[in-house]
Amino acid sequence: MSALLKQTIDKTYPVVTHGQGVYLYDSAGRQYLDGCSGAMTANIGHGVEEVAEAMKDQAGRVAFTYRTQFTNAPAEDLARRLTAMAPGDLDWAFFVNSGSEASEFAIRSAVGYWRERGVPGKFKVLGRNISYHGMTMGALSMSGHAARRPDYGPLLHAFSFAPPAYAYRFAQPGENEEDYALRAARAFEEAIRNEDPGTVAAVIVEPIVGAAGGVLTPPAGYLSRLREICDRLNVLLIIDEVITGIGRTGDWFASSYENVVPDLLLMGKGLSAGYSPVAGVLLRSHIVDALREGSGVAPFGHTFSGNPLGAATCLAVLDFMERRNILANVRQRGEQLEEGLLSLATRYRCMADVRGRGLLWGFEFVMDQESKQAPDPSLGTANTFVQECLAQGLIVYPAGIAPLNNAVILSPPLVINEEETRVLLAKLEKAVCAMERHVERWAAA
Ligand code: PMP
Repeated sequence: MSALLKQTIDKTYPVVTHGQGVYLYDSAGRQYLDGCSGAMTANIGHGVEEVAEAMKDQAGRVAFTYRTQFTNAPAEDLARRLTAMAPGDLDWAFFVNSGSEASEFAIRSAVGYWRERGVPGKFKVLGRNISYHGMTMGALSMSGHAARRPDYGPLLHAFSFAPPAYAYRFAQPGENEEDYALRAARAFEEAIRNEDPGTVAAVIVEPIVGAAGGVLTPPAGYLSRLREICDRLNVLLIIDEVITGIGRTGDWFASSYENVVPDLLLMGKGLSAGYSPVAGVLLRSHIVDALREGSGVAPFGHTFSGNPLGAATCLAVLDFMERRNILANVRQRGEQLEEGLLSLATRYRCMADVRGRGLLWGFEFVMDQESKQAPDPSLGTANTFVQECLAQGLIVYPAGIAPLNNAVILSPPLVINEEETRVLLAKLEKAVCAMERHVERWAAA
């Protein structure tokens, strides 16, 4: 009998005992291919001995110091390494313990920045519909996540939302990528103008929308247009790279693809690759300058912010990634995965809009590719597919816009090799084939 509160209280879960590389094992001896790195997190795979060694070493030396009393070498090193990897003058780092806390820190920094610049009326942060930035109340207030918000209405900030950049569902027939990028960016500008830019501190976007939409890759040119709009309207740009950051898309940061330098960049998940709860925020110098000139120490944090054990863990993860040239692997295996997924989509009518970059891929289930109609929400499409994959010993991440929930995320550990990618695709095909039969049955009902 379990006493641990899980996501679905009455659901039973296998008991995981250990992991190795892209595989996890349970107490019944079953093997699972971790096709989504848990929650796009276990980026260097499971059971990496050298990370465990580094953690042991740091814990034996000193596991915890408090940030207002001491600094520590691992946290300083980590800040230096991340700011050197990041685009532009993102020259400062602050560490927290979860993506949600990174979002909260970004809100506080953005509002603090404008207050110190003498514009205290700028306090709103605009997100987009179909997005996710975390479950704490500030983070959820910026999240256009229809399934997670309704229970907390009165507790949320009354921020408004811009439309998504989601070509498969929202581009007009015949509209090309460039035109759609322009239209989606203009819609964002309109949302800011509707709120009065004089009250808007920042906008926040995921460069590729993860769980809320199932890997929504924006049209080329969209992000750089957003940067230009934010500059023009005097609004800060926060880019949430909690999923995409630290190599997931084949570069250290997805913002780099369009040479966009956000004012604040959020990291989480892959930063420690799941070995320790660490997340972080990178800040451009002008933000930090304003905060420093102002009323004192701005980066209020949390007890565990920048603790040596967490930082040493992240350093070991970065060492591992650099030594093995993981970014090159992400690009190569990404191409293999893309090819495999596109090939499946030509053979199965229920599978549509294969989208992604590097080792972050998603697609949707539809009744048929011509109509693009999503299965009825009551059918629980994504969860049905998760079960079909589980039957093949493959773990995938359910996603998609609520209530449709008809999308899925594939994001294996970035260390996956060619053979393991082939195995993943073979398992996936069996599960998609089973879905094709479900969809045929649903259509006939
Ligand atoms: N931002 C994004 C883009 C995320 O995907 C998530 C988590 N899925 C978060 C923020 C929140 O991170 P955490 O769950 O670590 O609080």
